[in-house]
Amino acid sequence: MVNKKSTYAVFENSGKELHFEIIAIPELNEGEILVRNIYCTLCRSDLNTFIGKRTEKAPTILGHEIIGRIEAFGPNAPQTDMRGHELKIGDHLTWAIYASNPSSYYSLKGLPQKGVDLFKYGHEQITMTSNLHGGLSEYTILRRYTPIISINKKVPNPVAALINCSVATVSGAIRLAGNLDGKTVLVNGTGMLGIITCAMVKKNGVKNIIAADSMRARAEKARDFGADYVLTAGESETMKRDLLAVAPGDSQRIDVVFEFSGTPESMESTLKMLDIGGIAIWIGATFPQRDIVLNGEYLIRKLLTIKGLHNYNDQDLLHAVNFIEQYHNTFDFNSLVYDRFSLNEINEAFRYGLGENPFRVGINLIDKR
Ligand SMILES: [Zn+2]
Repeated sequence: MVNKKSTYAVFENSGKELHFEIIAIPELNEGEILVRNIYCTLCRSDLNTFIGKRTEKAPTILGHEIIGRIEAFGPNAPQTDMRGHELKIGDHLTWAIYASNPSSYYSLKGLPQKGVDLFKYGHEQITMTSNLHGGLSEYTILRRYTPIISINKKVPNPVAALINCSVATVSGAIRLAGNLDGKTVLVNGTGMLGIITCAMVKKNGVKNIIAADSMRARAEKARDFGADYVLTAGESETMKRDLLAVAPGDSQRIDVVFEFSGTPESMESTLKMLDIGGIAIWIGATFPQRDIVLNGEYLIRKLLTIKGLHNYNDQDLLHAVNFIEQYHNTFDFNSLVYDRFSLNEINEAFRYGLGENPFRVGINLIDKR
């Protein structure tokens, strides 16, 4: 018997403030774990949903960049995490954005984020039988088939919260790029994912990191996370000319582009920045947009590869946790989270995120302020 209540913030539609509801926490089902949410950061997709730039099932509980601590185990709940560590009440957890049956068609192909009957935290509709599935809540019920990892409590909460969307997605992007040893990479769009990419590829053997953003100050910030050269994002010819002015010789030969801005113009222009044999990884474009203009002969003669990534898989989450546990003191990720809001100030937090555009707005779900 759980015998607790949970307050949660309800999103109904864009243009409407979130409101609070309280529910008696239901009995846990087979394989479920009850988690007391500790900290949630507002991902760009949460902000986009809030303003109607993308559409989610509603009413819903937003928030999927989140950590929590184990409060209770349901019948036959997992006793160990993905690393084989025993799970105990009070452990700090991160979990995948999805619960996905590991024996389904896409899971078996290594794409659990597209599995049949996929369940996505922070993206599900509130119904009579399904609730407490988003971060903007005191509690979350982790469903069966959720990849779970117990994390080192030394990692600051705002940084640990970044793991299960930003850092794990970047892990997936780096996996798709393949061996980065001695390569030159362009990171286009230095919001949270772009910044984390700079830090991760820096520890992955790359030779040069070029960071670009349409907002120059954001691109400059990437220097603190390993970027060697900084550009203002724009037309490919302008970017090439600017790169020529700052980067010597072979450092202008770009092997890999990580494209996070998601605009068709950026995907088109950065594709033209690639050297022969280059790889473009497209991650940012998760909202409705026009078609890309692409010349097939150009693609073929330059031997280019384009790969798209949406979310990530179990192994990407594991690499994300390992990376943050090892390097959370090497890079100042804490400085990227504006850490001033609690759950009861959630509408102010969204307005702050949209108006001031910090890398992330953090929501402290435990301490009252
Ligand atoms: Zn996200």
